[in-house]
Amino acid sequence: MDYDESSLSLGRRSSKIPPPVPKKKPRKDVVTVSELRCNTGSQESLLSDSFLDIPVDELILCDDLTRLPILYDDIVLECVCLRYCERLFYTWAGPTLVAANPCRLVDYLYTSSQIKHHHNQVKSGVDRRDAHVYSIAGVAHHRLTHDLGLVNQAVLVSGESGAGKTESARYMLGYLTHVETKILQVPRSPLKGVWEDMEPTDIQNKILASNPILEAFGNAATIRNHNSSRFGKLIRLQYGGQQLRGAEIDTYLLEKTRVTHQTENERNFHIFYQVLSGVRSGLLKDLFESEETYNILLGEATSSDLANLQETLHAFQQLNFSRSHQNEIFKVIAALLYLGNITFIQEEGQTNWTVNKASTECVRSLQGACVLLGLREDQLVNTLTVHTFSVSSAQKVSVFHKPCERRRQCVERRDALMQLIYQCLFIHIVNFINDKIRADRTVWSHFLGILDVYGFETFEQNSLEQLCINYANERLQQAFTFRYLSAEHQMLKEEGLLGMDVPYTDNSSCVRALDSRISVFAILNELKRDVKEDEACNRVCKALEHTGLVCAPSSPKHTPGFVICHYAGPVKYDAEGLLHKNKDEVPQEVWGLLAGSSQDFIGKLTVGTHGVDIEAGRRTTRKITTLSKFKSSVDTLMKTLSQCDLHYVRCIKPSEGALTGMVDREYTLHQLKACGVIETVCISQAGYPVRMCYADFYARYGGSRIERDVAASSIALARSILGTSAEGDIDTAKCRFGYTRVFLSESALHTLEKVREEK
Ligand code: ATP
Ligand code: MG
Repeated sequence: MDYDESSLSLGRRSSKIPPPVPKKKPRKDVVTVSELRCNTGSQESLLSDSFLDIPVDELILCDDLTRLPILYDDIVLECVCLRYCERLFYTWAGPTLVAANPCRLVDYLYTSSQIKHHHNQVKSGVDRRDAHVYSIAGVAHHRLTHDLGLVNQAVLVSGESGAGKTESARYMLGYLTHVETKILQVPRSPLKGVWEDMEPTDIQNKILASNPILEAFGNAATIRNHNSSRFGKLIRLQYGGQQLRGAEIDTYLLEKTRVTHQTENERNFHIFYQVLSGVRSGLLKDLFESEETYNILLGEATSSDLANLQETLHAFQQLNFSRSHQNEIFKVIAALLYLGNITFIQEEGQTNWTVNKASTECVRSLQGACVLLGLREDQLVNTLTVHTFSVSSAQKVSVFHKPCERRRQCVERRDALMQLIYQCLFIHIVNFINDKIRADRTVWSHFLGILDVYGFETFEQNSLEQLCINYANERLQQAFTFRYLSAEHQMLKEEGLLGMDVPYTDNSSCVRALDSRISVFAILNELKRDVKEDEACNRVCKALEHTGLVCAPSSPKHTPGFVICHYAGPVKYDAEGLLHKNKDEVPQEVWGLLAGSSQDFIGKLTVGTHGVDIEAGRRTTRKITTLSKFKSSVDTLMKTLSQCDLHYVRCIKPSEGALTGMVDREYTLHQLKACGVIETVCISQAGYPVRMCYADFYARYGGSRIERDVAASSIALARSILGTSAEGDIDTAKCRFGYTRVFLSESALHTLEKVREEK
């Protein structure tokens, strides 16, 4: 096999799997199935070397995993790994695209001639399209704009952190806007047929400009990914009359705690470093005087931060953020940097803690924050150090924090204030962008959504964020199972087309254990204020033990928490901080403080951004927790997706450190299993993406004659159009006949449509 050994090496292997890439001459190489771990139980006995030797070249050339001659996990893995070594980063798994992160620059894959190539393939309806992220975007686009009965489309991009979700989503957006330009402009100027010459339209520019802004405010460098999205995103491109008219963005669960806390070797959101490098380089003038150090910034600004700031500024301009508006936004960022430098000290001879006015740096930060946020110093100090509560509607009583907890409470208040401000700013920016890119409801009828949400997460320590993220993944997996696996399986069986029983994993019981009436969410949401965290976890374990999916950590050495057996593997959630994060209470005074700012922009941030937190702040009687808010946003998302044809891009990170040329087989196999690729491969072997009942089929392709036996007439008709021989025998890979409907491959559909048009 021919691969570049200088840049490629196969990483840590599963101990059970022997080296897969024999260093022999090409063509002679074979992968023998019996050498590999065959974990499909009883079928193991069927294996014999003689017929299971698969030439390596055959595996490399197999761009659709469902066409592999034998479907075992290890063969699927082998195929993906070998193709990766050959720099074939994309592979189909039936209708799903497996996208392995190249972990290197591969610009040649994303040129305008590539766009053209894939667009033409989709348009011509060829049976086998090249595996590429452009192709999946192309199919979704084509179905939306050309196919039978316009249906909303959604491309779900999943994978773990650093696997390439955001990059894939970006390339798809690039494809869609590029193709749009071509469609819109070529008919008007036939001579200007060169793709490279196309100028994007205003709305396309605006939609594309939303990316760098959201990345600046919502992404951060983590140990897994130097540009990790710390929020989920669904962008719905709105189409009317086959044209892109606008778009709307929904965001999910911004990781606001990052504003005040980052773990070692991670950074705060990019925008903080961008603004700092702008101030230090003079690009952003007169904003504030930069300090030496900022407590909320782990990690340093780099030269790319300045370049990225320029991109952010350009994007702001394209989206009509005025200069003064931009300045207001940057002032908030500067204010947060100052707020983070406010420290507390115990008053001499007293038990009270207050803002450390003995330190000149702290005083400067206090003053700086107050000026930028339009607050009075005494107001801010009071809000951070004194707690007021209402005795009656007319009377409020001030108390200092409890002596033993005073310092911690001051810090918590400061952090809550900062997180609230940042979250409001983020919501404000998303809303503003939406106002600029959203099309009027009268001009669009359907949408094409691209969903880029965090993949399944499991770390050494897992908290509420991981619980939410993993819950979202369970729900998406459940939708996938229902749409593609169980529904498919059931229907083919009912139609008498599936001779074999294809097993699949149904994760519904895990979803129920998480969000039903008696569930992890319900128990955590209903806990009284004074319940201790480890006691809360015990209750969760006790109440849900019977499900077999929730249990206490097995080792007594473990810190308190509970374990949930997710479809992608067990995760231990730690008790510490769980309840506090779930309550997510922003003290009333903190809201009041911001609402009373002398700066219009700050006042409006809390009023104008209809974030759910604001409700939480105002209506203290109704329990709105992080989990309940998150569940309701996932419910809304699932409702949106239920109206769509779904397409899947499963991103795979070939090695944990995303090292160039490294394939960690065990790590890769885990991802292929966790995102359902293995199951997709099994079930979609029987895949005929287009299904029509006989009556519809006959009406569409048959003509006006009324037939008594519409099924028999349809079959005869299909044979005459799709038949490959004089007798009209049909290639069963293209078309099959069930009891009630016809099952068609895309190429069969294309042939039928062409014949219909020619009539
Ligand atoms: P997270 O969940 O942390 O946001 P992600 O899945 O969105 O992760 P990306 O930010 O898309 O991951 O990708 C991580 C990095 O991997 C990119 O910054 C880039 O360096 C590399 N990468 C991903 N996809 C590609 C690609 N198609 N071509 C080249 N490099 C890529
Ligand atoms: Mg991302």
